[in-house]
Amino acid sequence: MGLLKDKAIINGEWVSAKSKATFTIKSPVNGEVVGTVPHMDASDAELAINAASEAFKTWQISTGQERAILLRKWLELIRKNSEELAKILTAETGKTETDTKVEIMMLISGIEYFAEEAIRIQGEIISSPVPGKKLLVERQPLGVVGLISPWNFPLMLTCKKIATALAAGCTCVVKPPEDAPLSTLSAVQLAHDAGIPKGVINVLTCDRPNASQIGKILCDSKLVAGISFTGSTVVGKILYQQCAPHIKRISLELGGNSPFIVFNSANIDQAVEMGVKSKFFNCGQACIAANRFLIQEGVYDEFVQKLAAAIKSIVPGKNLGPLINSTQFKRLCGIMEDAKSKGANVVLGGQPAKEVGELFYQPTLVTGVTPKMQIYTDEIFGPVASVIKFKTEEEGVAMANDTEKGLGAFFYSQDVSQIFRVSRLIQTGLVWINDSIFVPDVAPFGGIKESGIGKEGSHHSIDEFTYMKFICIGNL
Ligand code: ADP
Repeated sequence: MGLLKDKAIINGEWVSAKSKATFTIKSPVNGEVVGTVPHMDASDAELAINAASEAFKTWQISTGQERAILLRKWLELIRKNSEELAKILTAETGKTETDTKVEIMMLISGIEYFAEEAIRIQGEIISSPVPGKKLLVERQPLGVVGLISPWNFPLMLTCKKIATALAAGCTCVVKPPEDAPLSTLSAVQLAHDAGIPKGVINVLTCDRPNASQIGKILCDSKLVAGISFTGSTVVGKILYQQCAPHIKRISLELGGNSPFIVFNSANIDQAVEMGVKSKFFNCGQACIAANRFLIQEGVYDEFVQKLAAAIKSIVPGKNLGPLINSTQFKRLCGIMEDAKSKGANVVLGGQPAKEVGELFYQPTLVTGVTPKMQIYTDEIFGPVASVIKFKTEEEGVAMANDTEKGLGAFFYSQDVSQIFRVSRLIQTGLVWINDSIFVPDVAPFGGIKESGIGKEGSHHSIDEFTYMKFICIGNL
C-alpha cells in the first residue's frame, strides 16, 4: 500500500518522535500488525504547535476561494485514491466492506461540503444608529486549533474536522486515535500532494499513555486558540476543564445513549428494519447508535419477535465486524455480565464469537432491561440490542430522557400530533422520526447535556473555528 505511512507529519515533513519511540497498530480481525507509527510526546507537540502557528500567519490571509481550490484538489486526490484509503481503513479498524464504504462516502461528501463552505464565510454591514460611522461584522479564523478524534470513524471524523478548520482559515494540530491513525496519515499525505501548504495540517501520533500529555499541551498552549474533540464524555470533561483556565474555545462531541422508541401507532416492519440499522451499523460502535429500544406495550411482542428474526441474519465476520480492541471487548462483556446478573433475559447471542476471532461478539438481543443495569445507563458500543417495555407516551418519553446524555434519539409513530409533541419533548440535539441514522453534511450534528457543546457539520460548524469581530469606522 503506497500511501501507508510510518511517520507523523510536522511542518510538511514526515518525522519520527524525538524520542524515536514507536507503537504498532494491529488488525482487530486477526491481531496482525498493520502498521507502525511514532509514539510522540509533549516535546513533539510543541514543534507541531509552532509549525501551525507559523503557517497561520499566511493561511489566515488566504481567501476563501484559494482555500476552496486547495480543498477541492484534496477531494480529487481522495476520490482517486479512495480504494487504497478504504483498504487502510479496513485493515486498521476491521470494518465490514459496507461500513468502510459508508465511511469513505461520508469522507468524500464532507470534504466537498467544506470546500464549498470556504467561499461562503460572510460578514455583515450593520446600519449605524448614529451618523458618520460604518459598522461591520467580520468572521475571522480562530487561529491554531487542536483536533482530537476517536477510532470509530477515524478517517471521516478526523478529515472532516481538518476540512472545516481549513475552510475557516485555521491551521491545525491533529491527534488521531491510537487504534486507527493510518488512514488519516494517508489522507494528509494527499492533502500535501494537493498543495495545502506545510504547517497547515500537522499530525501527531501517540499511543494511549501519551494522549493526555498531548491533550494537555494543546489546551495549555497560548498558541492554540481552540480545541475540537470527538470521543468519550470522560475525556471530554478533562479537556473542558483544561480549557477553562484559559477561557479557550472548545467544541465537544461526546457519548450518547440514544433511545429508539416504538409507539403503538408505529409501522412495525419499518421500525424493525431501521432499528437493526441504527443498532448494528459499524458493529454498534457509533455515538448515535440505538442504545435502548423502548417499546410500547401494545406492539411489544410483535416488535421483539420481528427484531429477533431480523437479527438472525447478522453474522459475525460477514456482515458484522469485530470490536476495535480488547478494552472495548472486555467492557462489553462486563456490561452483559451486569445485565445477566440483574435478571435480564438474553433472547439471542450474549456471548463472544471466539470461533470468528478474539474481538468478535455475537449479535445479541436482551429483554427485561431495567434502569439499574449498565446496559440502560451506559453506552453499549457493541452489537447488543437492549429492549424495555413501557405503557404510556409520558412514560416512554420520561425513560428516553432518563440519561445524562443528549445526543441522538429515534422514534416511530404514525400519529402526527404525537410526532410533533414527542419531538419537542425529547432532550437531544438530533432526532430521527420514522428513520434510521442519517447524517448528511447539512445537518448540525451535536448533542446537549453531557453529550457535548458545539456543532460538527453544516455551516454552523464553521462558527466553531471562527470568531465574530465587530468593526466600527468613525468620523466618516
Ligand atoms: P474512545 O473511548 O472512543 O477511545 P476516548 O475519549 O478515550 O474515546 O479517545 C478519543 C481520543 O481522545 C483518542 O484520540 C485518544 O487518544 C484521545 N485521548 C484520550 N485521553 C486523552 C486526554 N486525556 N487528552 C487528550 N486526548 C485524549
